Amino acid sequence: MGVAEIEEKGFEETLKPEVVEKGRCFLCGTCVSFCPFEVLSMGARGPELVDTCLKCGNCYSVCPAYEFDEKAVEEFAFGRSRKPDEEFGVYRSIVLARSKDPEVLKVCQDGGVVSTLLRYLLGSGKTGLSVLSGVKKEQPWLPEPRIVLSGSEVLECAGSRYSYTTNMMFNMGTAALLGFLEGSRAAFVGLPCQVRAVRKVQMLPIEELGWAKAIGPVIGLFCTETFDYEGFMAFLKERVGLSPEEVVKMNIKKGRMYFYPREGEPKSVRVKELAEFVRDGCKTCTDFSAELADISVGSLGLEGWNVVIIRSELGEEVFKGAVEAGLLETRDISEEPGVMDILLRLVRMKRKRAPKEKENP
Ligand SMILES: Cc1cc2nc3c(=O)[nH]c(=O)nc-3n(C[C@H](O)[C@H](O)[C@H](O)COP(=O)(O)OP(=O)(O)OC[C@H]3O[C@@H](n4cnc5c(N)ncnc54)[C@H](O)[C@@H]3O)c2cc1C
Ligand code: SF4
Ligand code: SF4
Ligand code: SF4
Repeated sequence: MGVAEIEEKGFEETLKPEVVEKGRCFLCGTCVSFCPFEVLSMGARGPELVDTCLKCGNCYSVCPAYEFDEKAVEEFAFGRSRKPDEEFGVYRSIVLARSKDPEVLKVCQDGGVVSTLLRYLLGSGKTGLSVLSGVKKEQPWLPEPRIVLSGSEVLECAGSRYSYTTNMMFNMGTAALLGFLEGSRAAFVGLPCQVRAVRKVQMLPIEELGWAKAIGPVIGLFCTETFDYEGFMAFLKERVGLSPEEVVKMNIKKGRMYFYPREGEPKSVRVKELAEFVRDGCKTCTDFSAELADISVGSLGLEGWNVVIIRSELGEEVFKGAVEAGLLETRDISEEPGVMDILLRLVRMKRKRAPKEKENP
């Protein structure tokens, strides 16, 4: 990875006291991946120094939890910052959408928009590869970063895992470099905190590596929180009475988490019962709708449909392309009357939940 401008400050003056020790680390791993001297390693609460910090400034320049200048990032990503009434960030349009691809509909989480967009991008040669989250074979429901090159690999990664994967940014760095060398682009799918990290990486002043040009489009997922993997899996076995291996799908609807076993009826618990497994960094996170992505996708409890927020010119071009190729069907958001209220409620709830003193230093 490249080196940013030489700075006075290093890890010990920035991320350690302001992010890790304040319990604000999202564990995204971006700082570790972008330390050019490889002196950071990921610990349980966040990055730790394993050798002398050379104070190059990369780690805190890419950290989504440190000095995040939202206005500057919005200017970079969208050419303008949000208007006062854009509570869930800059956007061009918001629609309901669903995949028309039968292969996607068999495996997707909600309406399959994310997988369909990725298959469209790869199939049409608009991107050479995509970075997303797959599943660890030996540990079901543990997300694992994946670089995928084909539409069939996209299908293997469909569905939502409600735990977290740390090394997404390492893959993003590799993919962007590969994409740059091949003259193609790498699409990215991630949670709002990961999208924030991607934007900061794109803004690093390392022109010759061409990060900005090699990444895109960035597809963000709506996110309320993720759960500590070990605790969540133990809860699944002990409280729900299902083993991780026999669960084929998990989903959150109207305040309950549903677990669908391979055979038999789904079981559910109130999401509130999982509160003790919510990761510390998530409690400080203010971004529900992936406000800095080119396209943000969630479901807000709709059965088999996605709510899609199209934010940038690139996002619009990609979404329109997939619709025109006959891969997606759309409906007007007004056809589901309560949806905008739910979106605003969740956006506000997440901002309110984050302790004020723990917001950006
Ligand atoms: C942890 C988490 C929390 C979420 N919370 C909400 C919520 O509160 N409200 C809401 O409306 N929607 C939420 N979503 C989004 C929702 O679950 C769907 O991902 C979204 O509606 C897209 O549906 P789809 O059918 O297009 O997805 P699919 O076509 O099935 O594609 C899903 C994509 O999600 C990626 N993915 C899965 N798990 C992870 C993970 N842990 N980290 C990063 N990427 C992952 C995969 O790479 C895959 O490409 C959440 C998603 C996740 C992963
Ligand atoms: S990126 Fe590495 S060397 Fe540079 S300031 Fe951070 S820890 Fe120190
Ligand atoms: S939020 Fe990410 S980049 Fe920031 S300290 Fe934590 S792991 Fe590093
Ligand atoms: S709530 Fe979601 S977006 Fe925020 S830090 Fe947790 S996983 Fe990341």
